[in-house]
Amino acid sequence: NVRVRFAPSPTGPLHLGGVRTALYDYLFAKNTGGKFILRIEDTDTARFVEGAEEYILEALDWCGITPDESPKHGGNFGPYRQSERRNIYDKYIAEILKTDYAYLAFDTPEELDEIRKEYEEKGEVFSYNYISRNRLKNSFSLSKAEVQNLLDQKTPYVIRFKMPVDRTLILEDIIRGTSHVNTNSLDDKVLVKHDGMPTYHFANVIDDHEMEISHVIRGEEWLPSLGLHNLLYEAFGWEKPQFAHLSLILKPEGKGKLSKRDGDKFGFPVFPLNFKDPETGNISKGYREEGYLPEAFINMVALLGWSPSDDKEIISLVEMVQEFDLNKVHKAGARFSKEKAEWFNHQYLQQKSDAEILNNLKNISEVSESNISDEKLLKIIGLMKERASFVKEIYAEGIFFFNAPKTFDEKASKKAWNEKTAEILKKLFDKLSQTSFQAEEISIEIHAFAEDESLGFGKIMMPLRLALVGELKGPDVPDLLEILGKNESEQRIKFAIE
Ligand code: GLU
Repeated sequence: NVRVRFAPSPTGPLHLGGVRTALYDYLFAKNTGGKFILRIEDTDTARFVEGAEEYILEALDWCGITPDESPKHGGNFGPYRQSERRNIYDKYIAEILKTDYAYLAFDTPEELDEIRKEYEEKGEVFSYNYISRNRLKNSFSLSKAEVQNLLDQKTPYVIRFKMPVDRTLILEDIIRGTSHVNTNSLDDKVLVKHDGMPTYHFANVIDDHEMEISHVIRGEEWLPSLGLHNLLYEAFGWEKPQFAHLSLILKPEGKGKLSKRDGDKFGFPVFPLNFKDPETGNISKGYREEGYLPEAFINMVALLGWSPSDDKEIISLVEMVQEFDLNKVHKAGARFSKEKAEWFNHQYLQQKSDAEILNNLKNISEVSESNISDEKLLKIIGLMKERASFVKEIYAEGIFFFNAPKTFDEKASKKAWNEKTAEILKKLFDKLSQTSFQAEEISIEIHAFAEDESLGFGKIMMPLRLALVGELKGPDVPDLLEILGKNESEQRIKFAIE
């Protein structure tokens, strides 16, 4: 029974790395016919950010990877928010204290700071571990009576993990294989804080056990915790899930981890959706609002660290589910590329029907407020789609369909216009207005006109384009004329002539 969880802390919006973890969790679960579970790890109240949980759920929905179990969707293993699982943790706190794997530590934060400073002055780094625990204020070094005394005085304490001395742990990871770590290099992590709240390590292991998680797929930053997690399973006598740690997503230039701030620096979003920081009011940009299609986004994210069998690049979520294989996830970091992200969107935009694009195009207020008919908008889409990576580019690149030119590009005017031009355009338009004003007929008519008047084709097309667009760009002139229609074309030509 495969059960995979995504366990974000609600400390802010999901970033690209988080989305990728969630996606791989989902793909693996679905590939094996298992369940995809969302658990909110909110024991760290100091770092809690209002709205983050809602954001995470909305982002997963937008990506098309909705959890089977979550605080919102429910399930048989709830509650799915750690802050609501205190009674479960309390039970296991009592249990681990009966073993030899945990002890109470009464050192105050101030005392520990003091010791840290002493070490620093000697050029060393303090670690609460198998050596220093012997001379600190805890139930390991103090006598039973001393401990009882401190408890009677209601002295606050934390519960620490008692790291075994000099044991070599064998750690298994699906992506990285086997590695070894000696326990002497690990410290006595806090399991339960002063306020009785468990820390990440403790709650995470208990919940993975209680929720019957079979596979833990998460970011590489948790690899250093794997030894401790293994030992926690041992302390409780539980069977471990299988672990897979995903490598980093790297900056575009390939050096270092892509950070939440890199979006501003490199000019691309690192979040799936816009996120408004409740404290500062700052808005971080999201892929959705930037005009990315969720299919394109998810395809781009999936390939940051995994490749399907035949190395194809365009792959739907359904196909990904079929093909996903943790053994094919790369050990090396994956480099993010903005150009590649845009390329994916371009590919997916081309697959959209013009009718679907029309719906999106009309979300742009300038488009919905223009009185251009759907029929014409569809023609504009047909003409402009191929060059666009985003729906908004169809509008931006075809802005002249919506706004008549007010000024004319100076260089282009010099090139395209002379004293005879006005006369020629007038005469041509008279002819054109007698046609059906369809691109094909317009084209035939312009050719015939050029022939009759013994004029070079360019002598006609360039000024005509300039009059209609304001500069020498855009789609074919006959298409332009047809879409603008007789009246609009006439007005533009008249305006240009004056
Ligand atoms: N709450 C942790 C995080 O936000 C979860 C790590 C894990 O998956 O074990 O990264």
